[in-house]
This record gives sequence, structure tokens and C-alpha cells, in this order.
Amino acid sequence: MAELNPFKIAQQQLDEAAERLGLDTATHELLRWPQRELKVTLPIEMDDGTIEVFHGYRVQYNTARGPTKGGIRWHPEETLDTVRALAAWMTWKTAVVDIPLGGGKGGVTCNPKQMSDREKQRLARGYIRAVAGILSVSKDVPAPDVYTTPQIMGWMMDEYETLIGEHHPGVITGKPIPIGGSEGRGDATARGGIYVTREAAKVLNIDLKNKTMAIQGFGNAGQYAALLGQTLGLRLVAASDSKGGVYNEKGMDPKQVVEYKLSNGTLQGFAGAESISNEELLQLDVTVLFPAALENVITAENADKIKCKISCELANGPTTPEADEILYEKDVFVLPDFLANAGGVTVSYFEQVQNTYNFYWPLEEVQNRLDDRMTKAFHGVYEMYKREKVNMRQAAYLVSVARVAEACKLRGWV
Ligand code: GLU
Repeated sequence: MAELNPFKIAQQQLDEAAERLGLDTATHELLRWPQRELKVTLPIEMDDGTIEVFHGYRVQYNTARGPTKGGIRWHPEETLDTVRALAAWMTWKTAVVDIPLGGGKGGVTCNPKQMSDREKQRLARGYIRAVAGILSVSKDVPAPDVYTTPQIMGWMMDEYETLIGEHHPGVITGKPIPIGGSEGRGDATARGGIYVTREAAKVLNIDLKNKTMAIQGFGNAGQYAALLGQTLGLRLVAASDSKGGVYNEKGMDPKQVVEYKLSNGTLQGFAGAESISNEELLQLDVTVLFPAALENVITAENADKIKCKISCELANGPTTPEADEILYEKDVFVLPDFLANAGGVTVSYFEQVQNTYNFYWPLEEVQNRLDDRMTKAFHGVYEMYKREKVNMRQAAYLVSVARVAEACKLRGWV
């Protein structure tokens, strides 16, 4: 089987774009590696009085276009390489939507599902104390990601402000609204994905009314995709989380599915649906598939069994390079992760702007601005796709890498 190390995959994707763009060796090498990475070891007191030692990371991939930006993921499988890959993808993500930020990412290897709120708070504060030296509104700005929440961002912001003795809410985004969060940040990742799905359907001449969607991964992005997919006329036929999924070919009420998941912590047992595995869900004959969990779920093993028309990647890195080629041959239209899920960081950027001005926008303004950015980004990538006759991911890489390379050049780095 091919290498499934996400960072190797990210480098391989870049290598292809660098070659097509004819990047000089120095620029190419610079963009293959993070500019800076910090590994921290965190002794945290657990509720029973014992000390558990956690391993954490913060990777600042590229700062040519602005301060690094990207979430902090808490996951049992987190490694330096997953964080590096995610940081690289953040760099291409901020570039594809053309916001003045670089890319970065953080992570802690832990299982938040087995931690109490007090333990999570101590871990959040411990992590910030360990990495605060490389964070600031103008250096590096974290945000939520898998298994981190607005509440965790609130604790992190408070710890940072306590350390420096000043208010700097813009040091972290995705905060709760009463302490400097933005309207519209909660559903922004899914909403951005819905906007680009709408645009994709237009260019592909697909009428989405009463068509089907399946969602793999039912965290923040997956749940909001279910709710917002309805605005495009899509019917939810399947959804899954890490424990498995539910399926009803006639459709399920997204609101009820989300409520069930929130009150039970699982999708299993949702009335009026049969169970389905994650693997079966991916292979359903639906119009839109939303991979919304983790990396490497669509691989050389299952790509030829994928039957959707559009795969809108709300997760980071769900499709391997080999699978990409197979999907392209099969005419599955892939909305690549760093375009499809850029809505989150776009509204994070709006949050930072509002924090800087200490003046807050109404929800409608946030959503309209998000729609403009996502629509423009989609069409920029789509034009490249048609012109270069490459798949949508390669097209997105060509757009983003060219922008980052230009910034490196203008700074005189290369
Ligand atoms: N973690 C999200 C992502 O992967 C959001 C990042 C941010 O808002 O900075 O895009």
C-alpha cells in the first residue's frame, strides 16, 4: 500500500504543483517544510490527583502572506507529521481564499472523550503556557479543530491574556461570541462547503433539488452540513461518526439527527434508520458526499467504489493522491479540502478583523462576505481546472502555491 503519512502526502501534492508551475529549486524546497515547529511536553493534573504527561505541537508552516493561522486538534492519533501536514494545508487554504494570513496548526495527542471539563481546561491552559512565546495576533493565531471547541478557545484566550496582562482577543479565533467570537463562526466551515457545492452544481449542470447527500463524520462540520445541505434542496440519507452510521434511503430529518447525536453522543439507535458502516456510507450512490472526519478515508482501496457526483471535502486530507487519480478518471468532481473547508478560517479572519476594530458585524454581513470569498475562490480554481486540464485539487494547488511563492519572492527570500 502507498505511504499514508499525511505529511508525505502533502509534500507529494506540493511537488506536483511545483513542477507544473516551474518553481525554482529554492522556492520549492522552502515550501516543502515548515518554517518553525515547536514540540512541548505537558504535565497536567488529572481529577484524581495524578499527573498525566501529554505531548503537544505547534507548527508554523509559512509566514510569507501573513501571521500563521490554523486550528488546534486534540486527537489520540496526533503526531508531529499530522500537524505538519495540516499546517501545510492551512497555508494553501488561506492562499486559495486570498486572505492575508499564512498557515499553521497545533495538536495535542490525547483523548478528550475520556477527559472531564476541568481536565480539558487544565490541558488548554497548560498548552498555551507552553506555546505562548510563539503566539500573538501578529505572529500565529490558533482556532478550533477536531475535538476542540469555542469553550476551549475561551480558556486558551484567557490564559494568554493572563500571561501578557492585556486584552488581545484576536490571538485566537472561534471563541464564544460573548468574549469576542464572531457571529457565523460556528457553522462557517460547513457553510463555506455548501456555497462551493452550490457553485459546483451550477457549472456541472446538476440540479440539487431533492437529490441525496451522505455525511461521513458528524462533528461540527458534519452536523452543520446536514442542516445547511437542506438549503440547497439536498436530502440527508446517511450520516456516520467514529462509531458507525445510520441510513434511510427516503431521507432523515437533519435537525432530528443532530439533536439525537447531541443528546446521545452517538448516531447509533436513531429511530427509522438502519445502521451502516463508515465504509458503506462512503460508497453510497448519492449526489453529494461530505467526507467530514479525518484524513485518508478515500484511498486506492475504495476509490473505484465511490459513486457520488460531488465529493465536498469538509475534512482535511480525506483523499489520498492515488484515490484522487481514480476519482478523476471516474468523473467524481472533488471539491478539495483546502478550498471546500476554507469557510472556517475565512470567518476566523473576519473574527480577527472585528477583534482588531473592537466593532462587531451582524450575522448577515459575515455570511455575505463569506459567500463572496468562497464563490470567488471556487471560480478561480475552476478556471485553472479547465485551463490546465488537471483535477480540482491540483488546480487549487496551482492557484495557492503560485500566490505563496510570489509572496516569498516579493519578500526577497528566494
Ligand atoms: N481548523 C480549521 C481548519 O482546518 C479552522 C482554522 C482557523 O479558523 O484558523 O481550517
